[in-house]
Amino acid sequence: MAQYGLIEAGGTKFVLGVADEHGNLSARHQIPTTTPAETLGESLAWFQAQDLTPEAFGIASFGPLDLSRASPTWGHVTKTPKPHWSGADLVGPFARAFGCPIGIETDVNGAALAESRWGAGKGLGSLLYLTIGTGVGGGFVSDGRLLYGLSHPEMGHIRLPRHPDDLDFAGACPFHGACLEGLAAGPSIIARWGASLSDLPADHPGAAIIAWYLGQAVTTFQAIMEPERIVLGGGVMGTPGLIEQVRAVAVASGAGYFAGDPDKVVVSPGLGSNSGLLGALAVALAA
Ligand code: ZN
Repeated sequence: MAQYGLIEAGGTKFVLGVADEHGNLSARHQIPTTTPAETLGESLAWFQAQDLTPEAFGIASFGPLDLSRASPTWGHVTKTPKPHWSGADLVGPFARAFGCPIGIETDVNGAALAESRWGAGKGLGSLLYLTIGTGVGGGFVSDGRLLYGLSHPEMGHIRLPRHPDDLDFAGACPFHGACLEGLAAGPSIIARWGASLSDLPADHPGAAIIAWYLGQAVTTFQAIMEPERIVLGGGVMGTPGLIEQVRAVAVASGAGYFAGDPDKVVVSPGLGSNSGLLGALAVALAA
């Protein structure tokens, strides 16, 4: 059975795994994210202790990342506010130790590939994955390939019409203020209402405001790409009832113009707690 080394590199923890090409995990391990030397060193030591002969490694990581294969710093973290991690080489230690192909993608692109291959978009040609958590990000897969331009897309930074009851809030994005991320990601919710959406009372107006922005975003991405599935993941989407509200806003905003049954197009992720590692596996298989 072929083996793949998997790394889900997050801002607070690294999840490591070994799996076959079908996603059957034979080993799994978790370590806290501290400094690159310590965290990458511990990760490498764990893989070396697994007696692993991998076909490939897959890394699905927090960003921003240099993903240009021609670049001398391909697979490095670029400029990040996260202490110690700017310039960290995520690929090099594993390439030198194992000598096998390595793929690296942003965590959201990894999740998009995994949802397309095994999750909510299985058997379909196109899928958009949006994560709404500490930030907002998106990855679009068409016929198994990710959308790219100069870099990976930055879908969280689109501009949207403002909710009439939210005009006093300047937005929380350090670059744009009131972009989608600045209006709907977790920090913007805390900044306005002092608690996460799921901790607010059920009748709090915050949920309707956040749903309004996300519904507008869904309509915008439908207009650009008409994905067969739009998967909404991330911590904010864990709020009970939120996806139904987002769908209702999108239906009203789209005014019947777009193809597909909204209940089938706008959906929750199909993969559970291993979605990050499966994202890394999708990246490894593409390598
Ligand atoms: Zn922004």
